[in-house]
Amino acid sequence: QSSTPEALRVVNLLQERNLLPPTAVTAPTPCLPQDLQRINCNPEVFRSTLTSIPQSQSLLNKAKMPLGLLLHPFKDLSQLPVVTSSTIVRCRSCRTYINPFVSFLDQRRWKCNLCYRVNDVPEEFMYNPVSRSYGEPHKRPEVLNATIEFIAPSEYMLRPPQPAVYLFVLDVSHNAVETGYLTVFCQSLLENINALPGDSRTKVGFITFDSTIHFYNLQEGLSQPQMLIVSDIEDIFLPTPDSLLVNLNECKELVQDLLKSLPNLFVKTMETQSALVQRGPQPEGFSQGHPTFIACNDFYKKLALDCSGQQVAVDLFLLSSQYCDLASLGCISRYSAGSVYHYPSYHHQHNPAQVERFQKDLKRYLNRKIGFEAVMRIRCTKGLSIHTFHGNFFVRSTDLLSLPNVNPDAGFAVQMSIEENLDDMQVVSFQAALLYTSSKGERRIRVHTLCLPVVSSLSDIFAGADVQAITGLLASMAVDRSVTASLSDARDAMTNAVIDSLSSYRQSVLTIQQPGLLAPACLRLFPLYILALLKQRAFRTGTSTRLDDRVFAMYQLKYQPLAYSMLMIHPALYRVDDLTDEGALNINERTIPQPRLLQLSVEKLNRDGAFLMDAGTVMYLWIGRNCHPNFLTQVLGVPNSSSVPENLYLLPELDTAESQRTRAFVGWLRDQRPFFPSLHVIKDESQLKPHFMQNMIEDRTESALSYYEFLLHLQQQISK
Ligand SMILES: [Zn+2]
Repeated sequence: QSSTPEALRVVNLLQERNLLPPTAVTAPTPCLPQDLQRINCNPEVFRSTLTSIPQSQSLLNKAKMPLGLLLHPFKDLSQLPVVTSSTIVRCRSCRTYINPFVSFLDQRRWKCNLCYRVNDVPEEFMYNPVSRSYGEPHKRPEVLNATIEFIAPSEYMLRPPQPAVYLFVLDVSHNAVETGYLTVFCQSLLENINALPGDSRTKVGFITFDSTIHFYNLQEGLSQPQMLIVSDIEDIFLPTPDSLLVNLNECKELVQDLLKSLPNLFVKTMETQSALVQRGPQPEGFSQGHPTFIACNDFYKKLALDCSGQQVAVDLFLLSSQYCDLASLGCISRYSAGSVYHYPSYHHQHNPAQVERFQKDLKRYLNRKIGFEAVMRIRCTKGLSIHTFHGNFFVRSTDLLSLPNVNPDAGFAVQMSIEENLDDMQVVSFQAALLYTSSKGERRIRVHTLCLPVVSSLSDIFAGADVQAITGLLASMAVDRSVTASLSDARDAMTNAVIDSLSSYRQSVLTIQQPGLLAPACLRLFPLYILALLKQRAFRTGTSTRLDDRVFAMYQLKYQPLAYSMLMIHPALYRVDDLTDEGALNINERTIPQPRLLQLSVEKLNRDGAFLMDAGTVMYLWIGRNCHPNFLTQVLGVPNSSSVPENLYLLPELDTAESQRTRAFVGWLRDQRPFFPSLHVIKDESQLKPHFMQNMIEDRTESALSYYEFLLHLQQQISK
């Protein structure tokens, strides 16, 4: 057995209790020859649940693991080769872009790695613009980079590239104004107005609404903005179409005037009605014991599809603490490739942590790059077929996703099946192509190509399993299941996914039968992650969960890139009262401590210590009752634990080594994601403590199994 790869090392989950690695889990490396692997796509951009692709559907069925791809196609990259070429070389038969995994039969012909057609190498491709040499087509940048961007010639556009257009629609009804969000929004936009992606053609416009719709005439030449009220909301018309969306550069002063005056315009508003909330039928309330998350009002879906057809995406910022039927409302973003932001109980005075988060998120939102009028197509080698898509978009034809906007924080997932046996194939490839208009008015195509080996044995399939990718895909599938069937069906399906795959492993891969709950090392965290998902806000039962909060968690799981979803599913827990420089990273002359990851169990907490939990969109800093005074004075600036203020959400900037280390660590964690997680310092008696404790997913609660009990349950089902 000495030749068994580490991924297949047998782990008895009931015996080995310290399975969580001390540092973040990394994506497995596909088992490919080194020259292919060296140029393969970055797993942060493109990865597969199974890094070894089964040769046939029947083999995939036996493995009982889902086959799919996870993508973060427009991710911010530190390095991106950009090619300008009058001919973009693509397969004549399947339209695949030439890529590192094609084969050159000779100098003049290349064989497509997706459909196997032999294509001619065009004359222009013989010249290499990088090395300025002739006659080495296999050294072109297209063939040396799995991720590349083309500047597209005119045949890739249906109309001239559209300018950047930003329309801000703001709720100014009494409840909305009372939260104080308008001041923060206007201030952020004022600060970032010059950073909005775009060029001299950029246009902006503003609409506010309560029971009526207010347009703003910002035409050049006016001495101040002019508000135009349309009170007939049954028959909305545009009072002066040309002057509502104005050129930002030409009308910047008027725009700035408007932003300065807007917050004061509605301070004393008595308007309680909001024209956005079309009163549809309310949700049924309960279905099989659980509330439904099915959009009950398809007004927003229809509106989203109209928007999508016109290349309009809608991003939703939701700051309400009242139930607002996010399941229906969210459709406006989901089908228009927008995104949903949620700040429950937002209030400028009572909830400063949310205000900070909203500010930071807005900054990212207004500054991040953006693509307009985009479409994305994912191609795979003949025999493989994509059947289900996850994310925010509209599926225009079987494999073409319509994305009115594409943003660098959006993730996508797809499920695949094997329609024809991949006999005699060593490798297969997947290629995602994203065609979009840049904020500078260029038509561009970003292409990612992933190459994976094909295997014919179950043990090889198991050896290549990517447990995080599988978990992420199962989460998306479970969201769909909750909507089409029920929450309990979705929960059962996730549990069954573990039972079935570990049963298959036991029956078909293990050569020696031994007692216990056995998993290959690569799947040793699978039961833990699934238990974490079952206790995640999106799928949990037993604990009261507000419907909008649950729906929002589901949106996040479907739409976030895997790295961020994983933190939501299985938060990272660190002890931080004893941070040291040992093993620390050095980034930009800052020392970033690297404490080890701890299991999510109260057993790991210690009353003498302080612990940081990173749950993706939120962080908790738990202070033990007897926390060491050094940490309290040097990091929090208080003499003892009882004087830690309730609702503390900022770490004071103290001039101590401990404070610097702690802030460096928290700052480093925050820098690794595009949105801003708020930090809550909590004590034993804090109101937020239950939120922190709910993430201790290895422990038993009144209504949910502990990790150990869950393992016993799995073992029982497997040995049936
Ligand atoms: Zn082809």
